[in-house]
Amino acid sequence: MKQDYYETLGVGKGASAAEIKKAYRKKAVQYHPDKNPGDSAAEENFKKAAEAYEVLSDGDKKARYDQFGHAAFEGGGGGRGGFGGGGMNMDDIFSQFGDIFGGGGGGFGGFGGGGRGGQRRVKGSNLRIHVKLTLEEVANGVEKKVKVRRKVQADGVTYKTCGTCGGSGQVTKITNTILGRMQTAAACNACGGSGQMIDKRPSDADGQGLKVEEETVSINIPAGVEEGMQLKVGGKGNEAPGNGVPGDLLVAIETIDHDTLKREGDNLHYDLYISISEAVLGTSKEIDSVTGKVRIKLESGIQSGKILRLRGKGVSSLNGYGSGDLLVHVNVWTPKELNKEQKEFFEKMKNNDNFEPKPEKSDKSFFEKVKDMFS
Ligand SMILES: [Zn+2]
Repeated sequence: MKQDYYETLGVGKGASAAEIKKAYRKKAVQYHPDKNPGDSAAEENFKKAAEAYEVLSDGDKKARYDQFGHAAFEGGGGGRGGFGGGGMNMDDIFSQFGDIFGGGGGGFGGFGGGGRGGQRRVKGSNLRIHVKLTLEEVANGVEKKVKVRRKVQADGVTYKTCGTCGGSGQVTKITNTILGRMQTAAACNACGGSGQMIDKRPSDADGQGLKVEEETVSINIPAGVEEGMQLKVGGKGNEAPGNGVPGDLLVAIETIDHDTLKREGDNLHYDLYISISEAVLGTSKEIDSVTGKVRIKLESGIQSGKILRLRGKGVSSLNGYGSGDLLVHVNVWTPKELNKEQKEFFEKMKNNDNFEPKPEKSDKSFFEKVKDMFS
């Protein structure tokens, strides 16, 4: 024996339309599949409640049910497509009664955004900007303030519930077919599915109640970003009319080449040139780094091609774990012109034992060093 529809919803026979709706909402929330994943009993109750509400919320069907009970909907051409014959599927329920969840006071967040129909939350369009960053900004991260021209709801604009769909964002069409009356739901044309229309439009607002305003948006750019990356600042795109949600601000990263530092992943490379005398006698040199100038010491007898590694002086890693290194490539500059005295000196040193190359094991070849750097 099929349960009485009034009992299913837990209301009395004389319940008003508002009480029936309220009772259904309560049941729907209680047995909602999102709240009871995998619970087939809850799903069955959810369907039963929807079936009961479908009949009791419709004046005509309610009258027939009140007079004849379940028999009003049985037999006679029956089959699917008819009303109230049971077997409503979940999609039907969501598309027909989405407004129960979407409307105010339901306390049912997270609903209505998906593909199940119901009121559509209109989202404002995204805005796109480019931001140019120096290597120092990339390496250390930076907060950039940019001026953005975005659409916002004008002062004094008000919105009202769409009269065509009653705020549900959907219109139900009933068509007569050979199988009986068919009910289908479609997005409301009048409001575009948002359920709202502009009510009071200030003179400076467009047809959606929006106007363009310049706003300074601060963008937190994390260290380690690269050319071509895109960051998203949520909600800083164009606003949407009514209770819609604003779009996002999409920030495309461009990088400016540094004069002396070259980036490779999180590591930085610096080419240092020293004279033969400096290489022979040792010296100290000031070089560029992303945190300013750094002074480094070069031992006497340093070989051309040596790579000095300054740990942690590279780019901070985008994933937040540590930093790359600054690799200083030592190049000994060979003079192209010499005066007589200098020429004589080097002529004399030609066969001097101290000037004979005697590479040690630690003086790795260029190729071995490159191999080391990438391993
Ligand atoms: Zn509408």
